[in-house]
Amino acid sequence: MPEIESFTLDHTAVQAPYVRRIGVEHGPGGGTVTNFDVRLVQPNTGEIPTSGIHTLEHMLAGLLRERIDGVIDISPFGCRTGFHLLMWGEPSVADVVVALTEALRFIADDAVESDIPGVSALECGNYRDHSLHSAREWAKTVLDQGISLDAFERVGV
Ligand SMILES: [Zn+2]
Repeated sequence: MPEIESFTLDHTAVQAPYVRRIGVEHGPGGGTVTNFDVRLVQPNTGEIPTSGIHTLEHMLAGLLRERIDGVIDISPFGCRTGFHLLMWGEPSVADVVVALTEALRFIADDAVESDIPGVSALECGNYRDHSLHSAREWAKTVLDQGISLDAFERVGV
């Protein structure tokens, strides 16, 4: 079995919410991609309901791209405690935290239903399973706790 970095992380030692740089990959034909662990909920103490994390996924897809260059993809973990974020280049954790905090601030304070992109049967694989209410409440919870620059000790921006 190949070693998967995410499975070597001690999930009992981290202190969410945080952003952690998982690794940097250099493509054989050039180009650099950085993979981040965007952890919003403390592992094994809770999880964002599917409707809420689904709506966060749709909204962050646009909101993050508006706030930081180089976003390739942001996709939820199966455990529903956060997201993988893939970015071109080597952006700093601090830059990601700033952009993510601004995006979650918009979701928590300002977003209305029409701000959720791609919520028709044409555009989404499970368009009935969305909740702005859940996304908003979880965004508030994360912002109240603050997003740490370090996975293992609380460090502010
Ligand atoms: Zn969808």
